[in-house]
Amino acid sequence: MKTSTIVAATVGVLAVATVGYAIYFDSKRRNDPEFRRKLKKERKRTQKLAAEEAKKLSNKSAQTVEEALASISDEDFPTSMEEREKFCMEQLSAGEALFTQGPTKFGQAAICFYKALKVYPAPAELVMVYQKTIPPEVFTLVMGMLSKDVQSKQEKYYTVFPPEEMNVKVEEKPEGVAADGQKVTRRGLVATKSFGAGQTVYSEAPVISSLEPSLEGKDFCHYCLKQIVDEASKVPCSKCTQVVFCTEDCRKSAAQEFHDILCTKDSEDASSPERSLREYTKTTRNLVPEMLAKFLVKMVHEESLNSGAEYNSFDHMERLRYLEITATAEEEKEMELLKVALGSNIPGIDEFITEERYLLMKGRLLYNLYGVSTSLNVDHDVEPLPERHRSVRDAPITGGGFYRVTSYLMHSCEPNAKIVFSENDHKVSIVTTREVMAGEELLVGYIKNDDLSTESRRLELFTKYRFRCMCPLCETTD
Ligand SMILES: [Zn+2]
Ligand SMILES: [Zn+2]
Ligand SMILES: [Zn+2]
Repeated sequence: MKTSTIVAATVGVLAVATVGYAIYFDSKRRNDPEFRRKLKKERKRTQKLAAEEAKKLSNKSAQTVEEALASISDEDFPTSMEEREKFCMEQLSAGEALFTQGPTKFGQAAICFYKALKVYPAPAELVMVYQKTIPPEVFTLVMGMLSKDVQSKQEKYYTVFPPEEMNVKVEEKPEGVAADGQKVTRRGLVATKSFGAGQTVYSEAPVISSLEPSLEGKDFCHYCLKQIVDEASKVPCSKCTQVVFCTEDCRKSAAQEFHDILCTKDSEDASSPERSLREYTKTTRNLVPEMLAKFLVKMVHEESLNSGAEYNSFDHMERLRYLEITATAEEEKEMELLKVALGSNIPGIDEFITEERYLLMKGRLLYNLYGVSTSLNVDHDVEPLPERHRSVRDAPITGGGFYRVTSYLMHSCEPNAKIVFSENDHKVSIVTTREVMAGEELLVGYIKNDDLSTESRRLELFTKYRFRCMCPLCETTD
């Protein structure tokens, strides 16, 4: 291997990368879903390669990887574009000088190549260069480090989420045995401190919520689903007569997060994209497509805020349990409606909404959707929602909500907690129904089970949520 190989190959990449840097640091491009999609795709491919390479590591090399990562764990990497580029080139030359000195320096060489990778704007491209130019042993070490790093970001997720003040953590729990004898686990929410009966464990606002379509534009807020009792306090949308809000704050939040883009603007044209989506929701009464449209718009909005949060809404959603669905004509239609409704405002959304991704997102929403009940007086004759949603209430459902933390609550026919909408809006509170000790799993009812036999409860739960209920009530009355 000639010393100049990597630098030569990398200079080629860096020439592209200088443009790459400019693009990378240009916030407009960074917020472009198309650009982000490409980066994400490359990242995925690199991660897969890293995981494969990591498998080749011997015990001794695995130890080298651990030590190497530990040695740079609190190192600061440069932030400015020029510094990054300089740092990158330095590490590349150093790495190259080291590996030419033979196998005893391979570990140190790998550290340099890994550091270069950390600051390089398009790591996937650099990995391709490495693959062709550095000795396989060193390459395996670098990829081992990358794989370990990705893994720790994954593992770290549940140590920082849910936030401590919510008094719960996500834990793996046994969920019976599969047909092939393998133990099945699922994730559930465990209380981190003890609670007496009737106490609130936490409250949580949804990522996205939607009103039952027949209530839209009447006496319920389009943003927080609250019933508006006082006619005088109604706040209209400034561009349409389709929706109303309970306060100016709700109007503003909705406008910023999703409504500015999804507003029908009272278009006379029945085929206007936003109106088509609205009409579809009205006729089918399926909330999920519109909720997904809101979710996607909100996601782009969050990205543009650039809050520096380590995990975005998509990262949160990605980890949730989902319902496996196959595409029917209905899903085809929904995807089309979404693409058209968002397309003119979010460039690149077309390619983002692939069939695979749409089905996964829809499956996640369907599995984790809660019926929201915010009626103050029960004179609203609302038919039950056709889509599956978790609910045990008698009060009419005023809409649906999708929550980050509450999605992890598992079902029991003898729950120790319940879902309460204490402020009569879409914010959910988890309230204990008996004493709950620290370390105990919090469980709610997904279905109303007052008069159901164990067999029918289990059937309904299995049909809707794909698990066989093993709660004490089901097990003792089996
Ligand atoms: Zn409101
Ligand atoms: Zn509007
Ligand atoms: Zn049960």
